[in-house]
Amino acid sequence: MRKTLYIIGLSTFLFSCTSQPTVKKNTYKSKNPVAQPKPVAKTTTSEAPKPKITNDRGVEFFTTNIADPAKNDNTVSYGSIVSAKPGGYKVVKTYFPAIAQNFRQRYLILHYTALPDDKSITVLTQQAVSSHYLVNNTGDNEIYQLVDENKRSYHAGVSSWRNDKNLNDTSIGIEIVNSGYSTDATGKRIFAPFSDEQVRKVAALAKDIVTRYQIPATNVLAHADIAPTRKQDPGPMFPWKKLYDEYQIGMWYDEMTKQNFFSIAQADFTTRYIDPTFIFQVQTALLKFGYGIDLSGKWDDATKKTIEAFQYHYRPQNYDGIMDAETWAILQALNQKYSVK
Ligand SMILES: [Zn+2]
Repeated sequence: MRKTLYIIGLSTFLFSCTSQPTVKKNTYKSKNPVAQPKPVAKTTTSEAPKPKITNDRGVEFFTTNIADPAKNDNTVSYGSIVSAKPGGYKVVKTYFPAIAQNFRQRYLILHYTALPDDKSITVLTQQAVSSHYLVNNTGDNEIYQLVDENKRSYHAGVSSWRNDKNLNDTSIGIEIVNSGYSTDATGKRIFAPFSDEQVRKVAALAKDIVTRYQIPATNVLAHADIAPTRKQDPGPMFPWKKLYDEYQIGMWYDEMTKQNFFSIAQADFTTRYIDPTFIFQVQTALLKFGYGIDLSGKWDDATKKTIEAFQYHYRPQNYDGIMDAETWAILQALNQKYSVK
C-alpha cells in the first residue's frame, strides 16, 4: 500500500514536472501580450474536488474529503489546518488539493497506567511519557486529553505490528487508570479489574477515534500486542470481547471457526507440542497475525511472552504463556478472519 502510494506520488510529481501547464497566477508584465499564457490560476489540475474550509473563531478546518475514497483515504481534517505564514507571501490552501494523502493516525493503542489517578496525571504530563487521552477512575463524565491528536504522544516505545514499527508515529494512545498487577506466591500475575464506567468511557472514546480516522479493526491493539516482551497492559482484565460485541471495536474470533480448529488441534496436541516444526508453525502464525517475533523454532522466552500477550487479549481465562490447543485454535481462527490482503 505504501509502495503504491509512493509510486502514485512519484508519478504524479513527475507528471507535474514535465507536462503540466503553467498554473501560476499570471501577474508578470510581458513585452509581447500575445505570447502570454492564459491565466489558469485558481483552478485545480485534476478531478480532485476543491476542499471546503470553515473558519471557527480564527481556526480553519477542512470540511470536505479531498482524498481518494477508493483507497480508503479520508482526509477530512479533524484538527485545525496548520500552514506556514511566510513573510510577504500568501499560502493558498484551496487551489491544488492533492488526493495522495491520508491520516497519520492509523492505530489505536490501549494501556493501563499501573498508577492511581493523581499519580497517572503527574507522570503522563510531567515526565518523559504521555498519551493522547487519559481515562480516569473517578466516576465522573470527564476524559482528559493530554496531547493533540495531530501530534505524537510518547506511549508506545519500541514497538511493532505487522510491517510497522515505532507506533508512536502513527497511533493514538489511550491510558486507562488501573493499578496493573501484583504477583502471587506461585509467581502468577494477578490483575486489577476495570470499572464498568471506565470501560464505557474507553469504548465511547475508542469508537469516536476509530470512526473519524477509519482505523481498521486489525489496528486496535493492546500495548502488550505491540511490545510483548516488555509490556502486559492493559492485561487480561480488559474486556476486549465486550468492546467487539457491544461496540464493534477491534478484533475477535468467530466461535464456530474456533471450535472447528479446536477439534482438529486437540487430537494430537501433546505429540505436536514438542515438535520443532510445530513451534515454527506457531511462531509463523503469530508473526502473520502481527506480532514481532523471531522464528527460532524453540519455546524461548520471547515466544512465551508473545503467547502470553496473545492470551491476555484473546484467551484471558488462562494466560500462562504456554501454547495449548485452545490458544492455537483461536490464533488460527483470527488469522483466517483477519488475514493480510
Ligand atoms: Zn502501556
